[in-house]
Amino acid sequence: MRALPGPVANELLRLRSAGLAERHLHLEGAIRPATAVALAARWPSSLFPDGAAFRARRRFEDFRGFLTLYRDVCRLLRSPADYARVARDLTGRLRRERIVDAEVYVSPAVVERIGLDWVDVRDALEAVFAAHERRGGGRLAVLLDSVRQWGPEAAHRVLDLHERHPWSRAVGFGLGGDEAAVPASAFREVYRRLPRLGLAPLVHAGEWAGPESVAQALDALRPVRIAHGIRAAEDPALVRRLARLGTFLDVCLASNAATGAVADPSRHPVRRLLAAGVRVTLSTDDPGLFGTTLLGEYRRLARLGAGVGELRAVAAHARAAALVGGPSRHGSAGGSGRAARTRS
Ligand SMILES: [Zn+2]
Repeated sequence: MRALPGPVANELLRLRSAGLAERHLHLEGAIRPATAVALAARWPSSLFPDGAAFRARRRFEDFRGFLTLYRDVCRLLRSPADYARVARDLTGRLRRERIVDAEVYVSPAVVERIGLDWVDVRDALEAVFAAHERRGGGRLAVLLDSVRQWGPEAAHRVLDLHERHPWSRAVGFGLGGDEAAVPASAFREVYRRLPRLGLAPLVHAGEWAGPESVAQALDALRPVRIAHGIRAAEDPALVRRLARLGTFLDVCLASNAATGAVADPSRHPVRRLLAAGVRVTLSTDDPGLFGTTLLGEYRRLARLGAGVGELRAVAAHARAAALVGGPSRHGSAGGSGRAARTRS
């Protein structure tokens, strides 16, 4: 592979030593191959007999192949201790990669679907995350999420759980899963509850569905950050709107290449979005399933031709995109207080 220009390579080293921030990262997707193998060994016919078998599953035919692997990983988790084990994979990775400020999606809806008690799992995760911060690993905040295709009731249930058993580490709420399954407008009432619960509005959109999915999310849910959002690049007016609103797009280059969300990764629209003034951040999405690192994401951006200025801008956006918890900080639903919801 062609070497990167000297100043760009130096900037990557500098960014890493300064400490990176990551905003789009799913807990279950951070599992290490060795953990997947160990958890799978408890079943009579192991899904992942060895690390090579797990890594082979990373070569997806299409998005469905990715979803199947994600589901298989979730099925390995049978207890709060299993969740804690995956959380330790995640915090170990954050330390190794010098990611000093991370916001991690945790899905109470998936926990309950597996048949586990949310509070037990939450307590197991909290112990791992608190230990990570105590040992100087940096800030680790949680983003609660629900699965879009399970509809607004499942999303309300996540908020009910948080209302009944508040988790001070949770600073945002988002929707993942199949973005085309249920329109954003169906979740309007769910998102109206967020300010009172101290959760900033987030959403996955514009990964598989086109720019209209991003526009509908902006109209109905007023997210401060959109996970992916890259299909917005197909609509110049929408790109201008994102830039004007200051909405962050948490973009994941290796993920988009692996799942085929971008047909030709060498023509990924990320630099066009940046050039248009959109606040792009870079993340790994599911580092265990895509075999990527956060610095690897910056390296991918550099290989697309980004210079020192673009790399610095992305790192600055990622820092500015940090969410601040607390009911009073996120403004009111429908308000324009975006600056009040993030640190920027
Ligand atoms: Zn994601």
